[in-house]
Amino acid sequence: DAEVALVGRSNVGKSTLMRELTGHDKFDTGGKPGVTREPNHYDWAPEDFVITDLPGFGFMSGVHEEYREEIKTNIVRYLEAYAEHILVAILVLDGKSAVDIIDRHSGPDEIPYDVEMYHFLQDLGIPTVVAVNKMDKVDDRDERLDDICDRLGLYPPWQQWQDVVAPITAKNGQIDPLNEAVRTHLHEEGRDD
Ligand code: GDP
Repeated sequence: DAEVALVGRSNVGKSTLMRELTGHDKFDTGGKPGVTREPNHYDWAPEDFVITDLPGFGFMSGVHEEYREEIKTNIVRYLEAYAEHILVAILVLDGKSAVDIIDRHSGPDEIPYDVEMYHFLQDLGIPTVVAVNKMDKVDDRDERLDDICDRLGLYPPWQQWQDVVAPITAKNGQIDPLNEAVRTHLHEEGRDD
């Protein structure tokens, strides 16, 4: 089945977004991090796709480093195995904290998870939309989105990348930019019949 895959660090609002996208009400939100261990598949009603929620990666309090690595390895394996079927990947970031976290983990020997994941998806040839969530908590909107573009290697201003960078507030159901960006890629793929 044609598939849209949702990836992101733990606590960025992936479950909240899933609920908005699918209309289902059964996602763990604000619950125990790391609860989603296996990829979960849901029908995405308005489109004829399956949407796959991959486990949240990165730091989770009370979760061992080894287990964290295992989760990440499983995500990577899943994406590699299903790259051909995945029409679009949605990489969810927390707009409030993403730039700080990325900068904290940037160094000569360190690539931040989010940046690594973005490039990995590019390498796999999976069209990727970066959903910048929690925009309700961001004051300097344009500056923040430019910074995110910069960190991902996309030349600012962000407005040039509206098919890649989608500012959203999942909590309030404000996800139009994401729907539009995703649709752009579906149409590019030429599978929107
Ligand atoms: P997940 O771990 O990525 O699945 O994240 P959740 O969906 O469980 O959300 C984590 C926390 O972020 C919860 O407290 C949500 O209410 C909150 N959250 C999700 N989306 C938004 C948003 O758009 N704005 C704000 N301010 N909070 C959000």
